Amino acid sequence: MSIETVVAPLAGRQAKPAGSIVRVGGVEIGGTAVVVFAGPCAVENEEQILSAARAVKAAGARVLRGGAYKPRTSPYSFPGLKADGLRLLALARAETGLPVVTEVMDARHLEQVLACADILQVGSRNMQNVTLLEEVGKCRVPVLLKRGMSATLAEHLLAAEHVMKGGNGQVILCERGIRTFEPSTRNTLDLGAVPMLKRHTHLPVIVDPSHGTGLAWMVPSMACAAVAAGADGLLIEVHGHPARALSDGGQALTFEEFAGAMIRIGAVASAIGRSLA
Ligand code: PEP
Ligand code: MN
Repeated sequence: MSIETVVAPLAGRQAKPAGSIVRVGGVEIGGTAVVVFAGPCAVENEEQILSAARAVKAAGARVLRGGAYKPRTSPYSFPGLKADGLRLLALARAETGLPVVTEVMDARHLEQVLACADILQVGSRNMQNVTLLEEVGKCRVPVLLKRGMSATLAEHLLAAEHVMKGGNGQVILCERGIRTFEPSTRNTLDLGAVPMLKRHTHLPVIVDPSHGTGLAWMVPSMACAAVAAGADGLLIEVHGHPARALSDGGQALTFEEFAGAMIRIGAVASAIGRSLA
């Protein structure tokens, strides 16, 4: 199914030709400014999340990310701190004032996740979990909806339509790479998705170059490319000690690398008439 032929009365561009803005705290996603969401893959302990929150804020990130419930490929991998991770995210939010995005894997966790999340993340593995989409559709909190790793853009748009049909219009789409035959990168970051989605939906579109490549050294370049392609924001994994990270260390930027990347990202944004939020 091509995105050209999708029936999406709520998410489709025709519903709001000028584009929609999702507001969280004082941050506007989908406006002229490019919003950077950054933080570790997973919350690991108090010192780790607080230091990361301070570092990404100082470098210009406007939203803190961190996983408490982690959908790991192997059942033997670190599954996240769960409720304790949510508590630590709330601490980091209270200290820095940064709004928080964290994943909700299961509708049964919604109440506790909502207590600390300013934006609910629906992960790649759950993009077509219709029950979960309907439940987050009943919430009145912004939703960051990641593209399924094998989902077409039409399917991504229709997943957003499921959320919106429940009455929650505050959806942000996130391109995070797809499965292809190319084994050199973790996923193939589909930057063509950005102009294509922007043409067919009014929803803000952000890009996750961390999961999109799996390689920290590629993240700054692909973040810049995403902004050049028209992304409204970026989701970037950052860790104080990537080599010691309990998940996704290979794709995490150090605090210094993140600060350097932000300078390059800001330069690209101003070259196309945008700025960093
Ligand atoms: C994440 O952002 O922590 C994550 C698990 O990403 P994805 O759902 O894109 O794999
Ligand atoms: Mn991760």
